[in-house]
Amino acid sequence: MEGSGRTREIERAIRHKMAITISICAVFMIVLDNAYFGFAMAMKLLSIPPALYFVKYVCLPNAIGVGLISIMWYVEKGFFSSERKTAVLAFVITTMCGLASIFHGFYPQLWLVPSFGLMFLVISHNQMLKRGVLTYIYVIMTLTFIMQIKDRSQGGFVVKQSVFLYYVQHYILNALIIAMFYAFTKVLHTYLDEMMEDNLSLLKQSDEFQDRVARDVLTGCYSRDYLSHNIEKIFRRCSNRQPTTVALIDIDNFKHVNDTYGHDCGDKVLERIGRLSRTMGHSSAERPDYRVCRYGGEEFLFIFRDLNPVVCQKQMEEFRRAFENQHYDFTDDRITISGGIVTCSSQQEFNTVFKAVDDALYQAKASGKNRIVAGKGI
Ligand code: GH3
Ligand code: MG
Ligand code: MG
Repeated sequence: MEGSGRTREIERAIRHKMAITISICAVFMIVLDNAYFGFAMAMKLLSIPPALYFVKYVCLPNAIGVGLISIMWYVEKGFFSSERKTAVLAFVITTMCGLASIFHGFYPQLWLVPSFGLMFLVISHNQMLKRGVLTYIYVIMTLTFIMQIKDRSQGGFVVKQSVFLYYVQHYILNALIIAMFYAFTKVLHTYLDEMMEDNLSLLKQSDEFQDRVARDVLTGCYSRDYLSHNIEKIFRRCSNRQPTTVALIDIDNFKHVNDTYGHDCGDKVLERIGRLSRTMGHSSAERPDYRVCRYGGEEFLFIFRDLNPVVCQKQMEEFRRAFENQHYDFTDDRITISGGIVTCSSQQEFNTVFKAVDDALYQAKASGKNRIVAGKGI
């Protein structure tokens, strides 16, 4: 999931850069068209009536330029976020720039057509769509080319050149532009793919590392440090459909275990709690979503999310029984736990919840140990 989130982030960054590039090009195009018109008027270079030139070669590209800038504004706002919308945009821009080229006969449109269409293809993962856009770009380019030759032969251009030269020039230019941008998008796509792979493996490593740091070495449960840094997040992630249930357990007479059999044997008991707690409810149909944290020396905190409180209580009772029935190689005695359990709303302050569950644990100890006592819901 993180990987695809990262992909979207990179794609968004590419769209952002493209939107800015296209907007700058459109502004450049508008300035150039108007300036050139002024220059051609002043120098009396126009071979067609100024009014006609103005409509065909100034108004139209200006309108297209403004259109492009507006579309880019929407791209910036995240409107074209899906691949389908991006493809539509590639078609629209190709058409707009192609039209400008056909009626206007000015070079910037020629490179605008393939470049933007192809740049959008970089972030597309759909081969059919890619081929479609690519074919469309070729068609528009060819049409542009034919129309310009026709226009040129009618003497509609300011440029004084032979038709043949004009033909060759466009032919080479078109081929070069398409080849260049295609190669460019290919390289960019490969680079993106490699970057994504690197990112994914880094993310995986970082997740594993964070998980290792977050856990207590002896029991494999989450550490108290992890809990204090993440408690808000854990609580917030609890759904509003079910209240959150928190349980606190403590090994009974653990000092006695340590004193009688040694600290190493005490550690084995702690390890066993860790192992049992991690597989809690795995055999039941409704696998509980819960976190276990080694809160203190031999105190463990359980947080159940999105689970009916009655089921949570049943789970804790099963856990208590399963732990009681454990066998150890250093003693035949039963080692037991006591616990408190409370249900609260996820809006509650953790300190308040902890106090309530600690009180319930105290009651379990005071009333004879080896039991789970449910505290008052808060
Ligand atoms: P109670 O039934 O009232 O809980 O009595 P208790 O003897 O268990 O008392 P308490 O909960 O205060 O005991 C905590 C003991 O846990 C004291 C400490 O030696 C032991 N302990 C804490 N951390 C560790 C550990 O990492 N390894 C071992 N072996 N013992 C630990
Ligand atoms: Mg204790
Ligand atoms: Mg104890």
